[in-house]
Amino acid sequence: MKLYNSATRKKEDFVPNSPDIVKMYTCGPTVYHFAHIGNLRSYIMEDILEKYLRYTGYNVKRVMNITDVGHLTSDADEGEDKMLKGAKREHKSVMEIAKFYTDAFFDDCRRLNIKRPDVVEPATNCIGEYIEILSRLMDTGYAYFAGGNVYFDTSKLERYYIFNDFNEDDLAVGVREGVEADANKRNKNDFVLWFTKSKFEDQALKWDSPWGVGYPGWHIECSGIAIKHLGEDLDIHCGGIDNAFPHHTNEIAQSEAFLGHKWCNYWMHVLHLNTNSGKMSKSSGEFLTVSLLAEKGYNPLVYRLFCLQSHYRKALVFSWENLDNAAVTYNKLISKIAALKPGNGAVDKAAAEELRARFTAALDNDLNTSLAVTALYDVLKARVNDDTKLALLGELDTVLGLDLLQTAAGKRAVDEKAKASTGEFNVVSESGEEDADVTAKIMARAEAKRSKNFAEADRIRDELKAVGIELTDIPNGAKWRRM
Ligand code: AMP
Ligand code: ZN
Repeated sequence: MKLYNSATRKKEDFVPNSPDIVKMYTCGPTVYHFAHIGNLRSYIMEDILEKYLRYTGYNVKRVMNITDVGHLTSDADEGEDKMLKGAKREHKSVMEIAKFYTDAFFDDCRRLNIKRPDVVEPATNCIGEYIEILSRLMDTGYAYFAGGNVYFDTSKLERYYIFNDFNEDDLAVGVREGVEADANKRNKNDFVLWFTKSKFEDQALKWDSPWGVGYPGWHIECSGIAIKHLGEDLDIHCGGIDNAFPHHTNEIAQSEAFLGHKWCNYWMHVLHLNTNSGKMSKSSGEFLTVSLLAEKGYNPLVYRLFCLQSHYRKALVFSWENLDNAAVTYNKLISKIAALKPGNGAVDKAAAEELRARFTAALDNDLNTSLAVTALYDVLKARVNDDTKLALLGELDTVLGLDLLQTAAGKRAVDEKAKASTGEFNVVSESGEEDADVTAKIMARAEAKRSKNFAEADRIRDELKAVGIELTDIPNGAKWRRM
């Protein structure tokens, strides 16, 4: 499998540190508001990565933080804590809004078929871990205390910029206009590891530390939580592209300074979901949620499909028209699957292998999900029996997460009910086989019964029996099998 590694800016063969397990870390949500569908684009893609790794046979341990402290209104060290701001907005405590929006986030994930990571850790659970890292960074000279805060000294690193060629103009997000320089910082890029002084003295959550009562910076939580649960070597670290700088850059700086060696081998960044008017963000602009899509009548999985139809390394523009197109595609796919007729369950293994190979070739190429969706159509069009198609679609959907078989079964049940109410007569064979001659005879028998010509109906039944065909009446039709 090849993955694009943001750290080397190349597509690379994915080789985990240990063949037995892939250690994967994903930056989690800041729980001061609902997640918007842009955030969820990132989580959908990370979910696909995790599920595909499992599909190809890896064990995966995936860890996610919940940011409930320390993320300031800018991604750098400026502004009020987002959690405190959210609590004030809603006249609740920080812990109350953290719980409410964490639950809301996992509710959205459930509706989008995003699996819950193996470990979900709120940042406020790991203060001891951050203090341990900071203590070592102070001892080894990577961190310094100034003006009441602990800072990371970026000048101590041979290489600080990992994702942006040392060129600040290339930064996706993070360096903003109008930010006052912090006079305590020795270097422009130094960042806060522990705050005891900020302009916002009403910070709700504070802990004791060797540097005074205060709270952790945002970046340290991901290093602390990842190292706590995944140890010193990480295989894959994921997040949205806005996390690349400064957040991930700072995570690498502090983790590698603490550990004394390379920390994470593969960095994966999902590009943003934008609206026509710009980036979707929690703090500004248009803010769309899964609940809003559901209120408007969209199946949330249509949004999942919409995301899968594009590549995660391309920005994606959301519009209602684009979502409608995804809904049409989803419904067509479901109708085609609902029309498949299960027979005796025999799967054509050789054909399945070839069709499966198209799917894995797509995802092996840096998670080309749109080609993986195309592979579903290849299955539907293939000259194989419906049992093979259904088995394969179910298997591929363990990665894609579109609820294909369940939704198709639901549609089939609804269609059958509709047919029943219009009195349509169905002829089905137990094996899935179709035989025009047998069907015509069964229809003629049904017609005879309708006109109360029971002698003729019995004659046709006997005629079919004589050639080895047994009939059973079913609601709104008849089923036949070869004896
Ligand atoms: P936050 O809750 O703001 O910390 O963000 C949660 C995740 O969503 C992070 O991985 C962000 O990088 C990602 N993210 C934020 N905005 C967008 C967007 N418009 N499109 C895709 N991902 C985003
Ligand atoms: Zn993070």
